[in-house]
Amino acid sequence: MVLLKEQLKVFLDRYAQRDALVAPVSEEGAVAYRRVKSAEEVTVDFDLPTLPPKAHFLPQTEELYRYAYGEGGMELKTPPPAAQTLLFGARPCDVRGITALDSVFAGRFGDAYWSDKREKTTIAGLSCRRVLPGCFCRAYGYGPTSGEGADLMLTDLGDRYVVEFLTAKGEAVLNAHRDLFGPAGAGDLEEKENRTANLARQFYREVDLRGVREKMDGLFASPYWERLARKCIGCGICTYLCPTCHCFDIVDEPAGPGGGRRLRCWDSCMFADFTLHTSGHNPRPGKKERVRNRFMHKLKYHHDRYGLDGCVGCGRCVAMCPANIDITRVIADVKEVG
Ligand code: SF4
Ligand code: SF4
Repeated sequence: MVLLKEQLKVFLDRYAQRDALVAPVSEEGAVAYRRVKSAEEVTVDFDLPTLPPKAHFLPQTEELYRYAYGEGGMELKTPPPAAQTLLFGARPCDVRGITALDSVFAGRFGDAYWSDKREKTTIAGLSCRRVLPGCFCRAYGYGPTSGEGADLMLTDLGDRYVVEFLTAKGEAVLNAHRDLFGPAGAGDLEEKENRTANLARQFYREVDLRGVREKMDGLFASPYWERLARKCIGCGICTYLCPTCHCFDIVDEPAGPGGGRRLRCWDSCMFADFTLHTSGHNPRPGKKERVRNRFMHKLKYHHDRYGLDGCVGCGRCVAMCPANIDITRVIADVKEVG
């Protein structure tokens, strides 16, 4: 189907005003996803958003419940259930990141907070405008126009979007807004294929993951990690920006006598106190252990546990690490070091 660009605002406003719309917003030089009240707030003028939309499902700070001591003992009050939501404008790598996190939160542990939002959210993906120097998604078998994991996928063709409806949730969107979508002609589909081919030619990096996962265990004791970790300043940027990182801490925030809130807050395995035990023992006492763990997780552990890659090749950490620690360089090094 085709959605004319002049109709996009109408489409988004229906969600903003009737249900909930979470969409990319540009603020103070950064693009991030948040709930908006109007399509006027939404931007489509970006390449890779600064922050991935994982924060919709796993907010940086999330209230799990409020607690208070009442006459009957401890009383707990959980937040209201999630609203039906359209998450608009997720890039293919970030959609894949959400899928990788489904296996963590919606899998064996059945996290109610994640699952509630996930079940009530329809994901409208948006193809990339161009390939950035850090991008290496195609190493993971997908690309800048892939819709896998999204419910519907929009690809920009200049004055219109070609829209694919990929799941039952996507079909429900089409059925609810048939007045806005027109049929795609053979020319539209051909233009989308040309666009896909053009984007595929733009990649700056060739990243070959073959044999990397299998080699990681054998490198656990390698001095390579010590050398690599010397550059790391432990800022945690790589983890906070990553669409698949999901470390969190749980804290109680007292508010007045006998009551307060229990919060789940993003944490980072790159911080020294992340694994610090109350006894004072720390199983990852130095940067070497923390840097090694991060790459082990991205390139091996996540796949071992869930059968899905723990990196999606978005390139954010490549572009944003202040010490220029580059996961694609690490991938190449792993293949070389003995
Ligand atoms: S490890 Fe880096 S490239 Fe891979 S998904 Fe995370 S931020 Fe993106
Ligand atoms: S962004 Fe770079 S310097 Fe900061 S913690 Fe990550 S690897 Fe270390």
